[in-house]
Amino acid sequence: MSPDEFRRLGHFLIDWIADYHAGLEGRAVQSFGPPGTVLAAMPQRLAEEAGTGDTWKEMLAFVDGTVTSNLLHWQSPRFFGYFPCNASFPGILGEILAAGLNVNGMLWATSPAATEVEMRCTDWMADLIGLPGEFTFENPGANGQGGGCIAGTASESTLVSLLAARGRLRERGSDVHAMTVYASRHAHSSIVKAAMIAGLADGPEDRRRVRLIECDDVHRMDADALGRAIRADVAAGLVPGWVCATIGMTSSESVDSLVEIRRVVPEEVWLHADAAFTGAALVCEEHRWMIEGVERADSVCFNPHKWLLTNFDCDCFWTRDRASLVRALSVLPEYLRNSATEAGAVVDYRDWQIPLGRRFRALKLMFVLRHYGREGLRAHVRAHIAAAAWLEQQVHASEYFEMASPRVTSLVCLCCAEGDDATRRVMEAINSSGRAFVSHTMLPDESGRERFVMRVAIGGTATRLEHVKELWALMCECAR
Ligand code: PLP
Repeated sequence: MSPDEFRRLGHFLIDWIADYHAGLEGRAVQSFGPPGTVLAAMPQRLAEEAGTGDTWKEMLAFVDGTVTSNLLHWQSPRFFGYFPCNASFPGILGEILAAGLNVNGMLWATSPAATEVEMRCTDWMADLIGLPGEFTFENPGANGQGGGCIAGTASESTLVSLLAARGRLRERGSDVHAMTVYASRHAHSSIVKAAMIAGLADGPEDRRRVRLIECDDVHRMDADALGRAIRADVAAGLVPGWVCATIGMTSSESVDSLVEIRRVVPEEVWLHADAAFTGAALVCEEHRWMIEGVERADSVCFNPHKWLLTNFDCDCFWTRDRASLVRALSVLPEYLRNSATEAGAVVDYRDWQIPLGRRFRALKLMFVLRHYGREGLRAHVRAHIAAAAWLEQQVHASEYFEMASPRVTSLVCLCCAEGDDATRRVMEAINSSGRAFVSHTMLPDESGRERFVMRVAIGGTATRLEHVKELWALMCECAR
């Protein structure tokens, strides 16, 4: 492709993307054919000959037609499922730029700007969400081991923090084969998955090294039960090594107390705080209560790619003990040796992650942070929380619906008073209407019985109160 052709197609594509976003308001949120629809629209074998101008016309028509009519439109303002997956125009521009430069920032030496923009942006973000200096490069505290990076996902951060914890245990002379890990029974599945990858569990149900701790009646990890589990494991000769607290549980948005957890978790046990979705709310001071005690956590992560206007993928991960992390993940073959690394003067982000190669994700984060500024980001989050509070009020006033869990920020969990079948029926009617999209979970009621719950996650880039009002009208209509 010639540079001129690239320029021409690039303009066309940017226009197309802008039109796609503008058209989302009027488009069904969910519209797909049966499995195999897209496969059937593509030839089974790739042609031998190279593409021509017509090939581009065909491919763009394919995207405009088959692809977009077989998507769940996560950027629709009436998408309330799972969790938000914010795109923004500054974020998209950052992605384009990263693709255009396409450097591999695996080492400082392989593109110093990629590393240093990321260091600065994670420091800015730490400050923006109220993390103590110990998690930053700029003011790393007495041990000088703070800092952050951008991972692809919270799941990756969970895994690397577990591996760092295991490395630290090993260095302290503990038997890592006896290591045990802990999280709430409502914690995200990525915790069990990390334990499986790390060889601590033979499968998702293997609880020999993985303890999923009971919760209280608002779905927070029961710290006393955690303390008992740790003491029992120590008594049995096991080695408690890693605890994950969740700040904003996936199903209910409940918040584990870091203070309470640290009260029962010895200092030598690595404490990770997973704030994947809800962490975005920390840009507002009034929500910082959720990380009270974070100065005694060893690592923290949250996903700007969920609710903070930064295109997927962007998970910010910070630690107060990067030395343990780097020692756990560092292998230095001859072909990566360089004078900057050897002088110990630089951060080599390949040592903070599983793969070697890494994208220049910090560009999109920098664009978002500098474009919106602190106040813009706070306004984004506050508008959604206000809309969620409005919806909660409607639910409280309604005879047909009830809250299934207390609202924390912008996730509203509700169900039909009539029971699970009614809730399921309403959800299916909403989703098949194409006028909005919500998803579900199971949560225990006061008597401990698991019930089917609709999760309304309010946080789309284009989602406003009016869309939440439309959703409520639709819910009431579907319930009749
Ligand atoms: N942790 C929590 C608390 C979540 O809610 C989610 C979201 O689904 C995840 C982890 C997984 O996030 P990711 O897709 O970034 O791995």
